[in-house]
Amino acid sequence: MQSPSLQIDLDILADNIQNLRDGITPGTEIIFVVKSDAYGHGIQPVSRRACKEGVNWFAVAYYEEALEVREACPHADILVLGPISPDEVPGSIQHRITPTVVDADHARSLAAVATAQHAKLNVHLKVDTGMGRIGFLESDDLSELEVILKTESLHVTGIFSHLAAVDLKRPWLQEKQHQRFVKAFTAAEAITGRRLMRHFCSSRGIQYYPDWDFDAVRPGILLYGYGCRDPRMRIRTRPLLQMHSRLMQVKRVPCGYPIGYYSSYNTTRDTQIGVVGAGYADGYLRSLSNRGDALVHGEIVPVVGRISMNWITLDLGPDLACKAGDEVVLIGEQNGNEIWADWLGRRAGTIAYEILTAIHPRIPRAYSGDIT
Ligand SMILES: *Cc1c(COP(=O)(O)O)cnc(C)c1O
Repeated sequence: MQSPSLQIDLDILADNIQNLRDGITPGTEIIFVVKSDAYGHGIQPVSRRACKEGVNWFAVAYYEEALEVREACPHADILVLGPISPDEVPGSIQHRITPTVVDADHARSLAAVATAQHAKLNVHLKVDTGMGRIGFLESDDLSELEVILKTESLHVTGIFSHLAAVDLKRPWLQEKQHQRFVKAFTAAEAITGRRLMRHFCSSRGIQYYPDWDFDAVRPGILLYGYGCRDPRMRIRTRPLLQMHSRLMQVKRVPCGYPIGYYSSYNTTRDTQIGVVGAGYADGYLRSLSNRGDALVHGEIVPVVGRISMNWITLDLGPDLACKAGDEVVLIGEQNGNEIWADWLGRRAGTIAYEILTAIHPRIPRAYSGDIT
């Protein structure tokens, strides 16, 4: 097979979950964020294995993703981080999906459907403490909050917020958000008269703020093996996804030979050019043109010329013994050398999240480890 493929080791996911559990406050629930097809890793295999490792809660962005997790994990709790629409209420009740309520109007529209079904819908409340995205404002009139909390057919079971920044140089940014969150759940719980499930931190917050674990944490990237390079961080994980392809042609070219569209690279010596089956249509970002690296026979070799739709060109150097058909590691490790999505992200002017979620879902994935 010459086109790109993904190798995903679910035993590494199990180790990552264990490391996270060992690192957080005992008793803290893990809400594993598996939106965007588990950050490109495959939502169902990843959720299924995480369930087996004792993860009881999952979070997704959209209702449809929740249905996929439900198939993989019949007993887990599933939180939809975004606002679902009223027509998704019956399905949410049927499949025990917990949507997020973002304001009083949204609460009313969901409640109307639940009431018509003579059913109760479990929901979590989202407080916007400084992200400026989803949720009601902590400073909102309490009567609006009261409307949500007292709605007959909605059963508010949790309350959460999301950090816009965990900035070690400007810690007041996250501290301000934390203060607002404490105020918000205190006010909400005063109205309900009972304790709500409180959750606040995603990966970066988890790493730097052990006092903010509350009842649950919401890790995404950390469980996929990223966001743990700073030695001050409390949890270590390893990437589980590798992207491989093959050399489709190897050829010798003279010094000064132009490579790729618009000749953005010219060879600086007699060398071998390797053509790899992968390109921007597979999710290998075009911004890695003349900036990425790959591994061939354990050697780090540069991506040269522009990334095409389906081909990447590598300068293999004059002496590397290689031939068409040989393996190329685009993301992963080989003979002790490593190229991971966070490094590629920096080279491409983006983040590991985008490198991973850009990978085209059509690329075949081979799972290893206990795939349950
Ligand atoms: C995506 C997301 C997370 C997970 O973020 P990571 O940085 O990947 O840990 C947690 N909470 C919310 C609300 C999110 O949207």
